[in-house]
Order: sequence, then structure tokens, then C-alpha cells
Amino acid sequence: MKIAITWDYELFFGERSGTVELCMLEPSNRLLSLAGKYKIPFTFFPDAGCLIKFEEQAACNQDLQAIKNQIRLWDAQGHETGLHIHPHWEKSRWNGRQWEHDLSFYKLSDFSAEEASGIVERYASYMNSLLSQPMQSYRAGGWCAQPFAPVADAMKKTGIHLDSSVFKGGKNAKKPYYYDFTDAPEVSHWKFTEDPAVLDVEGDFTELPIASMNYSPLFFWKLFVFGRLFPSHHKPIGNGTPAKGGGSKKQLLTRAHRLCVSADGYFSTQLNRALRKAKQANEPFLVVIGHPKALTEYGLKTLEAFIAEHCGDHEFVTLSSVL
Ligand SMILES: [Zn+2]
Repeated sequence: MKIAITWDYELFFGERSGTVELCMLEPSNRLLSLAGKYKIPFTFFPDAGCLIKFEEQAACNQDLQAIKNQIRLWDAQGHETGLHIHPHWEKSRWNGRQWEHDLSFYKLSDFSAEEASGIVERYASYMNSLLSQPMQSYRAGGWCAQPFAPVADAMKKTGIHLDSSVFKGGKNAKKPYYYDFTDAPEVSHWKFTEDPAVLDVEGDFTELPIASMNYSPLFFWKLFVFGRLFPSHHKPIGNGTPAKGGGSKKQLLTRAHRLCVSADGYFSTQLNRALRKAKQANEPFLVVIGHPKALTEYGLKTLEAFIAEHCGDHEFVTLSSVL
């Protein structure tokens, strides 16, 4: 089985963005040491809009240079970088202390087709200028990759031919989000043209879905209780607050949820279950999502144990190498 662990590298988008040091640099350094120890590659999806906005704001210059250095470091070490777009940065404002975000422009589909295409091309060319090889893969911010048709030409122009935004069975129509993957094809990966969740054998793009599975209320009870009892193990390293709209605590504690297979914090305890399921279903690969900002001490330990256990009998690869 090929296993691709992917990291959306970004700040928080709620009331507090958090610091670049704790949300991005420090946890990613921990991940790079882990990758070096076991000689495995990761795939990073840096939030391109954030970097471009930082270019315009002198107060963010030091952070920007540190981020660019970290990206160049992992690039030189053989990790993959993909295009990650949180287009709300187009409307974000620096208030002298921190960033204020207008999430009514959260996803590319909140912009006109022309604006959205321009964003894709601008962000991709900026990111490619930092990298040794042009990017091949895309992940929409907040999984909001639909509709894809308005930006398909722009993606093609930039050389993007892979997408990893879909997780089978996922759905969220609560503002500012919108995605519906409930009718995604029941195959491991597929070609698409206009919608990454709809198979089109003639398609120019290939969907490499993030693995997904059900999480019971018991899982979330444990997550919240351990977080309360042992904060030093379970508190995220990142120090910001998430955007609203991701599902309430009450819902999580009372019914099962179909969510991504994730390396974030306590979610990493479920990686072995995900691998077992993927093997049973004869899947050729397992794509895992994570966020450096959401790493915890406990999660890092669990992730390391997972990698140590499986790096002999499975192959850890970059996203573009899963096929
Ligand atoms: Zn993101």
C-alpha cells in the first residue's frame, strides 16, 4: 500500500490567526525531523494567498522570509508542494496588529469566474517561483473545490493535473463552506473535468481523494475529555482559533460523522483503523490529511509510532507518486 501524508500549511482563519512561529514553522520543523528520521517524503499544501498578502505588508516580512526558507528547505529535501488556495486573503485586512478576514469570500466560487481564474494563475506562478519543480496537484481551501469548471482552464494552464480535495461521503453546506461529495464514485481514484466528485473517463484531471471514514460520538467524547484532562499532551501547537461553520461540539458528541482520515492531534489514533480498512478494500493507496497548526504532542507521538510500524511493510510517498 502507498501512503501519502499531506499537510495543509496555514494560519487559522477565525478571530485569532495565531502566529506563524507556532502554527506553521515550529510544527513543520517537527514534521521535517520525523520525515528525516524515517526517510519518508511528505506533501505540503502551503496557503499561497497568505504568502502573497504577506509580500504586501512590511510588518509580516520577517515571517514571510522564514516561511519561504522553510518551503525551500523541504523542497530541497524532496518533499512535494501542491497548490492550496484560501482566496479570502484577497479581501483580508491588516489592522496594525493582526489579520481580519472577510469570510463572505471564503471560496473561489464566491468570486467571478474571471477573478477566480486570475487568482489560480497568480497563486500558482508565485508558488512555482519558490520551487525546484512546478506543482502538479491542487487542494481547495476548506475542501470547497466545487464548482471546478470556472477554474479548470486556469488549472490546466498552470500544469495542475491532480486534485486531492474530495473525501468520499463528505458534505458541508454551512456558510462559508460548500462541498458535497456524497455521490463521489466508489473507486479509489478517477478522472474528472468539471466536478472533482464526478467521474468523466475523458477528463483532463485525476482525483486522488483524501481517505474518509466514520467517527463515532465516543471518539469525540474521548477527544474532548482527554483534551480537558491532559492539555499539555492534547493542546494544539498552533495558537489561533478556527473559522466557524465546521460543525458544532454538540453534533460531534451525539451522532457519527463522515470525516477525513487525518493526522491532526487525536485523529492520528485512527490511522491504523484507516489502514486496515484500506487494505480490506484492496485500495492501492491511502491519502491522509493533516495541518501543522493542529498537531499536538500526543498526535506527533502517535503519528511517529504509525510511521515506525509501517515504513517497512508499506511505502510512504508524495501525493503525485501514489499511482
Ligand atoms: Zn487550508
